[in-house]
Amino acid sequence: MKKVDLMVVGQGIAGSVLSFLAIQRGLDVVVVDAPLPGRSTYVSGGLFNPVTGRRVRKSWNYDLFYKTMKDVYLEIDRQLGVQTFYEMPIYRLLTSKEELNNWETQRLESECVAYMKELFFDLDLRLKKHEAAGVLDKGGFLNAPLFLTKMREYLNQKGEVLEEKFDYSLLPNDSYKNFTFDHIVFCEGYRVFENPYFSEINLWATKGETLLIKMEGESFDYVVNKNIFLIPMAKGIYKVGSTLERSLDLSTTQKGLEELKEKISSVVKVPFRVIQQQAGIRPNVRDRKPLLGVARSSDNIFLLNGLGSKGISLAPYCAEHLLQYIYGETDLDADLNWQRIFKRQ
Ligand SMILES: Cc1cc2nc3c(=O)[nH]c(=O)nc-3n(C[C@H](O)[C@H](O)[C@H](O)COP(=O)(O)OP(=O)(O)OC[C@H]3O[C@@H](n4cnc5c(N)ncnc54)[C@H](O)[C@@H]3O)c2cc1C
Repeated sequence: MKKVDLMVVGQGIAGSVLSFLAIQRGLDVVVVDAPLPGRSTYVSGGLFNPVTGRRVRKSWNYDLFYKTMKDVYLEIDRQLGVQTFYEMPIYRLLTSKEELNNWETQRLESECVAYMKELFFDLDLRLKKHEAAGVLDKGGFLNAPLFLTKMREYLNQKGEVLEEKFDYSLLPNDSYKNFTFDHIVFCEGYRVFENPYFSEINLWATKGETLLIKMEGESFDYVVNKNIFLIPMAKGIYKVGSTLERSLDLSTTQKGLEELKEKISSVVKVPFRVIQQQAGIRPNVRDRKPLLGVARSSDNIFLLNGLGSKGISLAPYCAEHLLQYIYGETDLDADLNWQRIFKRQ
């Protein structure tokens, strides 16, 4: 038997960041992960966005999450010797006088002042006619596929990775196959429904599809937002997303493709080519807050899940908070504790 401090199941954004932060603490970590259909981080846009929704509202606790996120991803990039984290303005296209007025009113709200900036009137000629663009600061994106690949290499070097589907039936209290551990944290995304230790969790999982497209000309040096996001991943290559559907069908669909192509055409007036289409399932929770904490049946089994549609900005803060809780450095924030679901019932 090999003894480790921490076993982590799932290497999406939750498991990756948690494992990295654990290794930074000097812990021995083993990760169990298989690239299962429907995994979310890999297909996600990787966007972090301070102000969201039709009504233009600041994301919950964004100030707090943004600070931790920036520190953690920049440190990961530094240690991995790669750039995956991009701070970049988000240009929200405003196509009517009403949207423009709404932007100007909303940006005077104190909680938005740090994020909603001036209007910009002179955008790229490849974009369709609009009144103006509202510029959002402190947003950007994580190149999620590159991040996961590089993180996998790092975890193989600094710890150990078992590339397999975790078999829950083999888990007695503190061992799995030829490993014993002090603590185990489950980060399986929407597949938590297969986990008998957290069987009470009923995620409100939603499917989403994204595209990778190629468009001629210099890449935008900002993210474009108008019903969809156009994220400049590499020269002339954009990630576009996403659809939203109450479905657990794991395949890409013609309907998803057509919907995204139509939305792209409502934003850009030049031709584009679809390179790739992907589908994933968001691990949403009804109250839109993450699910962290300890299992009811065992005090060394933990959960980091429920990152919904904001996994990139939530994961670093939540992972650090969970580690602090596991190692007795803080109480668990009641807003994040997965056991709050029992109070609702
Ligand atoms: C189309 C789409 C677009 C999105 N865009 C954005 C965005 O722009 N910005 C943003 O912040 N969020 C976005 N999201 C949401 C974001 O992707 C999620 O919040 C986040 O990825 C959840 O991460 P996770 O680590 O919890 O789960 P996942 O990324 O799903 O990772 C779970 C990992 O565990 C593995 N796994 C599961 N069960 C087992 C098992 N039994 N054994 C071994 N391995 C297992 C899976 O294969 C996977 O590798 C998007 C989601 C979708 C679907």
